[in-house]
Amino acid sequence: MSRPKLNRRIGLIQPSMTIGISAKAKELRAAGVNVINFSAGEPDFDTPDNIKMAAVKSIADGFTKYTAAGGINELRDAVVEKEKNKNGLEYKRENVCISVGAKHALFNIAAVMLEEGDEVIIIAPYWVTYEAIVSYVGGKAVIVNTTEENGFVPTKEQLEKAITPKTKMIWVNNPTNPTGATYTVDDLKFIVELAEKNDIWLVSDEIYEDIVFDGYKPVSMATLSDYAYERTLVVNGVSKTYSMTGWRIGYTCGDAEVIGAMIKLQSQSTSNPTSIAQCAALEALTGDQDSVEKMRVQFEKRRDYIVDALNSIEGISCFKPKGAFYVFPNISSFFGKEYEGKKINGSMDFAELLLEHHHVAVVPGIAFGDDRFLRMSFATSLEDIQEGIKRLKEFVEKIK
Ligand code: PMP
Ligand code: GLU
Repeated sequence: MSRPKLNRRIGLIQPSMTIGISAKAKELRAAGVNVINFSAGEPDFDTPDNIKMAAVKSIADGFTKYTAAGGINELRDAVVEKEKNKNGLEYKRENVCISVGAKHALFNIAAVMLEEGDEVIIIAPYWVTYEAIVSYVGGKAVIVNTTEENGFVPTKEQLEKAITPKTKMIWVNNPTNPTGATYTVDDLKFIVELAEKNDIWLVSDEIYEDIVFDGYKPVSMATLSDYAYERTLVVNGVSKTYSMTGWRIGYTCGDAEVIGAMIKLQSQSTSNPTSIAQCAALEALTGDQDSVEKMRVQFEKRRDYIVDALNSIEGISCFKPKGAFYVFPNISSFFGKEYEGKKINGSMDFAELLLEHHHVAVVPGIAFGDDRFLRMSFATSLEDIQEGIKRLKEFVEKIK
């Protein structure tokens, strides 16, 4: 029988490598292999009890039916309150759409905003999904490569050069997955001014806004000018801040017409995000916030440990992130060398050999647009981090 003839666009994207490698690591663990898993971009903490209980109550109360496609009013209003109190942004209910995770929010933004061939500036190293989403809906990802020396933040010249008459949007993730890079207000102001000069829309992915270190306080791009407020779509969600990755609730705030288009698309595709998860997210945003700071403190301790430990390994250098829960060590000094007779040509070879022989799961930098690096998530226990670093050291000592 002939193979199915799939839509051309599905052939343009690869499966998410972050999800693929975490699934493989979980499978190996289930099969009894003692894998240290640095691949998953999800907090290892349990979802706080008050949030879980809100979901249990919603089931007991029978809140188990369809809701409005863009989310329940109480949750949309809670997002309005949260953005006002935390970021000083004034929205109304019609400026908020609740989606099935921030990933779904970003997908819907691309789907309602981009025409075939519209260009989106994406700053590399980028989260795997940005490029895939833009390509899938027919847009063109224009990649701006950053360097460790510049703290993985693009220079003004790089951004200016990337603009063409087809540029429709710039997507900024602050703090950044996979590097942990953080932007200063001046960095963001430049982007906002460039956008205004060229009539460009902005996406501000703020999903890691609460996971910040050394006193860094992210400022939302949307607050930086009237233009920025009108033309920025702020994306966020409960996955990272409240350790709720499986609940699948994200949201977008911004222009009411764009939000309306996103809700229309949801009404004809997913319908509403799960009713029960919406109740849990409402409790997350409006209930006790103590757990957020407790988790942040743990992340900062782990960051301090892992950065020092990586930098003490010969051949590895690691940028110290001020946000998110990833480190992005440079391992390119091992390229061209061999591990037990096997040549290491790039981050993929390095990651595969490390998993196969030392049972440490990491994501190759190539998945994020820079082959010289690895991404390691430190959203795992300090004991696991210590053991994983020990194994990584043993691995690189065998590379000749
Ligand atoms: N943006 C970034 C930068 C991320 O790392 C993630 C992680 N999944 C998301 C968005 C999406 O998160 P979720 O869909 O779980 O809300
Ligand atoms: N965002 C997380 C990561 O980068 C979760 C996996 C995914 O959605 O890609 O690992």
